[in-house]
Amino acid sequence: MQESCHRAVELGLPAIAFTEHADWIRGPAGVFDYDGYFDSIERCRAAHPSLRILSGVELGEPHRYPKETRALLAAPFDRVLASVHCVEWKGETTDACEQGFLTPTDVVGIFRVYLREVLALLESDQPFQVLAHLDYPKRYWPSRPGYLESHYEEEFRAVLHAAALREVALEVNTTRGRNPGRHLCPGPVVLNWWREEGGRTISFGSDAHSPDALAAGFELARELAAAAGFKPQADPAAFWFR
Ligand SMILES: [Zn+2]
Repeated sequence: MQESCHRAVELGLPAIAFTEHADWIRGPAGVFDYDGYFDSIERCRAAHPSLRILSGVELGEPHRYPKETRALLAAPFDRVLASVHCVEWKGETTDACEQGFLTPTDVVGIFRVYLREVLALLESDQPFQVLAHLDYPKRYWPSRPGYLESHYEEEFRAVLHAAALREVALEVNTTRGRNPGRHLCPGPVVLNWWREEGGRTISFGSDAHSPDALAAGFELARELAAAAGFKPQADPAAFWFR
């Protein structure tokens, strides 16, 4: 975290948010280390007074863990993201990133189930500000059949409409700046649907997980957000609005 702050200053970023995972679905490995986390945040703030350091959490499937979510959010986080990583498929719950899970035969069905799960998250009463990496399975899509957003337009629009009603920000996740065709979540087509469905707010995330990937891919993300009609605010650490 200290190195990430150092990198943020080097890049001239006005702020950084550490949105640590809370993934109850993973069992003990996914539990949020509350004391360790806030201790680290305080040490980063002391060492980098010129940088705005936001505390944060990425809640994994919080609608399935309302009690745990409520307990965790008793802490005052600056940024609360929510996301879906896991899909229930053939009686098992699996993270879409797991190798061999998104097979050419199953991927279309799994993705529809994934988007239904995102809709369930949005229709739940779990409190959060940002919907993270809306089309996450795209990163792990098999080369056959290709990924085409238009195949899922109806499902996407239902999700985006629900997100707009809740007034959450849609995250543009650049996945450490890797190949945007596969790793920009979501891409320009979905960003336009977001605007059309009444979405007003965008947030940027590089999902860096390491200092060297911090803010990687933000240039393209900013370009696409601007092309879709979203604008930066006077406060450079704020969301983009339209
Ligand atoms: Zn995630």
